[in-house]
Amino acid sequence: MIGVTNMKKTNEILQQSSFSLEDITTLLCSQGEELILLFRKANEIRKQYLGNKVYLRGLIELSNICEKDCLYCGIRKSNIHVHRYNLSEKEVLDAARFAYENRFGSVVLQSGEITSQVFVRRIESLLLQIKSMTNDKLGITLSLGEQEPEVYRRWFEAGAHRYLLRIETTNEKLFRKIHPNNPLYDFKHRLDCLYSLRETGYQTGTGVMIGLPFQTVEDLAADLLFFRDFDIDMVGMGPYLEHSGTPLYENRDQLLPLEQRFNLSLKMVAVLRILMKDINIAATTALQTIDPLGREKAINVGANVVMPNITPIQYRKDYLLYEGKPCTNEEPAQCTNCLGFRINAIENEIGYDSWGDSRHFFARRENRNRENLTGTAESDS
Ligand code: SAH
Ligand code: SF4
Repeated sequence: MIGVTNMKKTNEILQQSSFSLEDITTLLCSQGEELILLFRKANEIRKQYLGNKVYLRGLIELSNICEKDCLYCGIRKSNIHVHRYNLSEKEVLDAARFAYENRFGSVVLQSGEITSQVFVRRIESLLLQIKSMTNDKLGITLSLGEQEPEVYRRWFEAGAHRYLLRIETTNEKLFRKIHPNNPLYDFKHRLDCLYSLRETGYQTGTGVMIGLPFQTVEDLAADLLFFRDFDIDMVGMGPYLEHSGTPLYENRDQLLPLEQRFNLSLKMVAVLRILMKDINIAATTALQTIDPLGREKAINVGANVVMPNITPIQYRKDYLLYEGKPCTNEEPAQCTNCLGFRINAIENEIGYDSWGDSRHFFARRENRNRENLTGTAESDS
């Protein structure tokens, strides 16, 4: 009886065009037949708004040197057991060329957070070189943490056009629990960075970790509402995975079992797709860490972007944000073959040679232009 009532509820919610915190929490708690309905709806929306194309971003993990000490991250500054590396310019350019020649369409440059002038110039120079080497054909996303607005601007002008900066959690109290208590960690500053990225003109992406200790389903529902209210262009979110070399490992007894963290992550992807129909949503590597078919499953419930790792193989084992990361001993070429095969196997198609930009970004920009025009017309009259 209870099942029937709940099912009606989920069914009803799925018919709505707007959703409250309570509705989203209910959706995130869906199980059994309710869950099948939720996943089916998310998949339909993705197909209807974005077709069956899945876009690739070749992930280049530039360096595991980091000035920060996030309590959950394996490459945090205080983890003295990490062998630190910095890719050479040639290694980065070779990886970008690999992505270009294999028709990936885009790369993501990611690293620990470094704010030195040397780093800023190095990224600027790499961007200019990648752009010129590929005749401006390769799209570039950055994921290089919190930086000054001026730095975001310089990198944008040098050719980057998308930026990922996860808010990690929108519950400020929880944010403080999972980060050290020092001025480098200020929730408001992280938000300001997101505003600054958007103001600069980037397609702006954020995300959260799912299944953190102390995190509730309501927190996650609020995260989804934040993405919607911020009007974000792209989201990358995945399960939190503990790393034995980090302080948060002490709280591992409070974690959901891996399978539940995985299922909750799939539900987050599905509900987000229902909330934000035309944004880009990544099927993250952390999902693949729990289930070898994790990324494919995420695509089936609303994700449309995959980030195959194309970091030179000898460095992969040193970029362990969490333990158990897959593909640390797989050559980029093997990775690509395996991915194409898997994506086709779930009746989707890779969008080769395409930047696969966020449709939401263009719709948002058009809306803003229209508002500006209306504003001008009104003030003229
Ligand atoms: N230094 C940059 C980019 C690299 S970290 C930054 O922090 O923005 C990229 C993402 O990895 C982080 O945003 C975080 O969400 C994720 N991450 C770090 N440690 C993790 C863990 N233990 N489990 C799951 N995701 C983790
Ligand atoms: Fe550094 Fe990013 Fe890891 Fe934090 S999450 S310690 S900023 S690499």
